[in-house]
Amino acid sequence: MKILSVNAGSSSLKFQLYEMPEENALVSGVFERIGIDSSFYTIKFNGEKIKKEVDLPTHKDAFTILLKELMDLGIVKNLDEIKGVGHRIVQGGSYFDRTVVVDEDVIAKIDELSALAPLHNPAAIVGIRASQEVMPNAVQTVVFDTAFHQTMPEETYLYALPYEWASEYKIRRYGAHGTSHKYVSARMNEILGRNNTKLITCHIGNGASISAVKDGKCINTSMGLTPNAGLIMGSRCGDIDATIVPYMMDKLKVNSKEMDTILNKQSGLLGVSGISSDSRDIEEGISKGNHRCELAQKMYVRRIIDYIAKYYVELGGCDAIIFTAGVGENSISTRREVLDGLSVLGVKVDEERNNVRGKETLITSDDSSIPAYIVPTDEELMIARDTYNLCI
Ligand code: AMP
Repeated sequence: MKILSVNAGSSSLKFQLYEMPEENALVSGVFERIGIDSSFYTIKFNGEKIKKEVDLPTHKDAFTILLKELMDLGIVKNLDEIKGVGHRIVQGGSYFDRTVVVDEDVIAKIDELSALAPLHNPAAIVGIRASQEVMPNAVQTVVFDTAFHQTMPEETYLYALPYEWASEYKIRRYGAHGTSHKYVSARMNEILGRNNTKLITCHIGNGASISAVKDGKCINTSMGLTPNAGLIMGSRCGDIDATIVPYMMDKLKVNSKEMDTILNKQSGLLGVSGISSDSRDIEEGISKGNHRCELAQKMYVRRIIDYIAKYYVELGGCDAIIFTAGVGENSISTRREVLDGLSVLGVKVDEERNNVRGKETLITSDDSSIPAYIVPTDEELMIARDTYNLCI
C-alpha cells in the first residue's frame, strides 16, 4: 500500500512516498516558493535528484504536478494507488493525543489553534484542502507534533501563572518534535528489547528539545507553549527570565512582534556568538579561538546537560540517552561534551564509537552507567506508519 507523508509550509510542500508496511521510501522531494515567483521543485528518485522550474500558484498545483511526476516516473499507475496521505501539523493543542483521520471538525480545531502556531497551522490546512481535492479517495490523516506530549501530567504542563490562563487562553506546555521523540524512543525500545524503559531523548537540531519518556509515554519535555522554551537553539533563546521581555521592550522601544523576532531569530547560538546559528560554524569559530563561539557552545552544552540531569531525577534513573536530529546525529564534539558533563553519574563516552555521524550507534563504553546512542530520526516514516495504521 502506498502512503504519502506531507509537510506543508506557507510556501512549500515537502513529501515522501512509502510502500507500506515494508516501509520502503520510494521517492521524496520538495516544492518551493509556492505562490511566489521563481517556483521550483526537486524530486529524489533512484539516487538521482531532478530539479524543475515551474509555475506554482497554489498548493493544489504542487499536488497535481507531484501526482503527474509519480505517474511519469512509473512509481504509480493511477492516483488511487495512494491510499493514505499523512499531514504534519505543528500544533494540536489539548485536542489531539494521537493521529486522526481528517474531517471538518478536525480541520476546525486545527484552525482554532492557529493563534498558537500562526506560521504553521493555516499552511497545513491549505495543504490538507489541496490534497483532498487532488486525491479525493485517499484517507487523509493529521499527525501532530504535540500529540506525543499529551501524556504529561497537569503539574508538569501547567505554568505557575494565573490558573485561568490555561482554560481561557490555552496557555500551557504542549512541547514539539513529538513525532521525532516518539520515533526514536520506540526505536530505542526495539534496540533494548523491552518497553518498560526510562529514556531521555535529545532532538538537537536547529530547533532543539529533550523529552523524558517512561514506558513509551512522554512525562516531560523541554519545549513549552511554543518551541522557544528549554534548550538554547540555533537562533532561539530557550529558557530565560520572563521579566527580561517587558524590561527590554521598554529599553529598546520595540513592540511584541519585534521582541518575538529577537527571541526567536536573533538569539541562541547566533545571538551569543554573533556569527551563526549553525553549529558547524560555531565549531569552526572555536577552532580559530573565537571566544564568543566558545562561550555559545559552553552555554548550549550546559543547558542540554541540565535537562538530562533533571529528567534523570524525574524518571528515577535512565536506561538510555538518545541523540538525534542535525546536531545530535552529526556533532561529535557536542555529544562528547554533553556526555563528559554527565560523568558524575558514571556516564562514559567511547571516543572511537562516538566518532561517527548520522548512523545508529552506541557511543558510550561498555562500563558506562547509562548507555547513549545515536538514533537518526525519521519523522516522515512515523507519519507514514500512523497513516498506514489508520488505513488498514
Ligand atoms: P536539523 O534542524 O535537524 O535539520 O539540524 C540542522 C542543524 O544541524 C544545522 O543547523 C547544524 O547546526 C547541525 N549540523 C548538521 N550537520 C552537522 C555537522 N556535520 N556537524 C555539526 N553540526 C551539524
